[in-house]
Amino acid sequence: MNRTLTLFLLFLAACAPERAFPSPTATILPAPFVAVTRAASPSAPSPTPSAAAVIPASPALTATPFPLPTADPVVIACNQRKPAADDLLVVITAAFGISPEYVPKGLLQLDQYLPYSAVYSPQVRVRKVLVEPLVRLIKDMRTAGLKPVIRSGYRGYHDQVATYERWQQENPDRAGLISAIPGHSEHQLGLAVDFYSPELPDLVGDPAMVYHSAFDETSEGKWLAQNAHRYGFSLSYPLEAQAWTGLTYEPWHFRYVGVELATYLHDSGQFLTQFLLESRPVLPCVP
Ligand SMILES: [Zn+2]
Repeated sequence: MNRTLTLFLLFLAACAPERAFPSPTATILPAPFVAVTRAASPSAPSPTPSAAAVIPASPALTATPFPLPTADPVVIACNQRKPAADDLLVVITAAFGISPEYVPKGLLQLDQYLPYSAVYSPQVRVRKVLVEPLVRLIKDMRTAGLKPVIRSGYRGYHDQVATYERWQQENPDRAGLISAIPGHSEHQLGLAVDFYSPELPDLVGDPAMVYHSAFDETSEGKWLAQNAHRYGFSLSYPLEAQAWTGLTYEPWHFRYVGVELATYLHDSGQFLTQFLLESRPVLPCVP
């Protein structure tokens, strides 16, 4: 299958069966995947999406392999976007943000569910849907002799502003690459977590180091890269995804998408942002 041209179309028909799509060139593959030839196949998305990103779909397809998001009924400005409570697959990149006012419902304090030493502070909160898988993941890591710490979870818009301003002061040339622009952070969804390894400071020679690309050389980072998908977590910012996400490599940042999709992405070598953008029938929002 041509990787760059691989799409999921099944949900399009389920979500918008009445919609008249351009004549598709879909090929049914062994369930649950469907490939389709795209009119345009850029190696990376344009920061300003064009009509070429609108993907034709087949109304004949009726099954869905994953709990893919419902198609946006109306494309709205990204700064007004408020994701549905059950939508785990909201596209967020440097181009596609969400409303500053969006706060997910049902955030839970992780220190209520995990050992004290596995959570950085009582302020670390996430959506309910990923608490149980995360507790299992941490338990299994600790059983394997590892010492992971959940350093960060939900981050509201105002916290993002503070984080971004701090990076701008410390590293003005790269602030937009190493920290999401406020309103463009997966942390605002309450579905993303940042992991810390106690091996990191010694590894990089900086006792204050919290996030560093060398996380992938730590015992915790290696385990997560190999196993996080089995708990439903996907690496949001792999090295090769920068052209799509707008952010640099973050081996510590994982987002909950469910076991099926996380496993598919891991095993096929795809990354979440590209998959989501190629799977959408319409642009997720207007930047
Ligand atoms: Zn993060």
